[in-house]
Amino acid sequence: MTLICLICETAVSRKQASIFCGGPCKKVVHVSCVYAGTVDLPTLIKQIPGLSWRCNDCLSSDVSIEDTDLGQLVESKISHALDSIVVQINELKSTIEQAILQNPDASSVNKPISYASVLRNKTVPAVIIKPKESQDTSKTKTDILQNVNLVADEIHISKIKHVNDGGVLIGCKSAEGNLKLKKLVQEKMVGSYDVKDVGCVNPRVRIIGMTLEYSAEHLRNQLFNMNDVLISNPNDSKIIKILPFKRDNAKYQAVV
Ligand SMILES: [Zn+2]
Ligand SMILES: [Zn+2]
Repeated sequence: MTLICLICETAVSRKQASIFCGGPCKKVVHVSCVYAGTVDLPTLIKQIPGLSWRCNDCLSSDVSIEDTDLGQLVESKISHALDSIVVQINELKSTIEQAILQNPDASSVNKPISYASVLRNKTVPAVIIKPKESQDTSKTKTDILQNVNLVADEIHISKIKHVNDGGVLIGCKSAEGNLKLKKLVQEKMVGSYDVKDVGCVNPRVRIIGMTLEYSAEHLRNQLFNMNDVLISNPNDSKIIKILPFKRDNAKYQAVV
């Protein structure tokens, strides 16, 4: 089979230096028809991987990326990356949500806290330890510390107040703490001290200037409807009394 040079259209013999087009046409040319230099092109092309000569047709039809194609390519790459980030964020979110659900302490943070429970915390139940005979408060405290080991018995005190006749009011951080403290004092200090519980005090609110004498039921539901963020259950509140306003009998007041 005779090979014909793409340029001069004559036969390419074995003796003549020739190269093949590295483009799609793969046609052959005499080196002398395309190159006037002294470098041995066929050898060079064989030695250097990726190096090739291309005819003009193949050079002009070379695959090139248009600007718009490049833009679309970049766009699709970025959108793919963003999609994968979104997927990862959603996975993280569901992991966090599950962790919160499995941890009751953390989930309770999101529960609405009633106004009453916030105020009630300031007046937690406490224990009053009172000497049977009046004495200095410091003596009472020393006696308590000598008889009750607060650290070993894990009693966490949240407040201490002095009361009459050398007595001390001690509030613990938990109801169990109060019980434990009361029991220990009763066991170890029973001879010279009296111990009694102090219950918690619910906050009271006075509502004044009502122009109608509402029923307790109506007022309570009204309060609940207007303050459902603060009051989680209308039965948590109690209308103690509704009575006319002293200075103006046309207006009423209520203690809740
Ligand atoms: Zn030729
Ligand atoms: Zn070609």
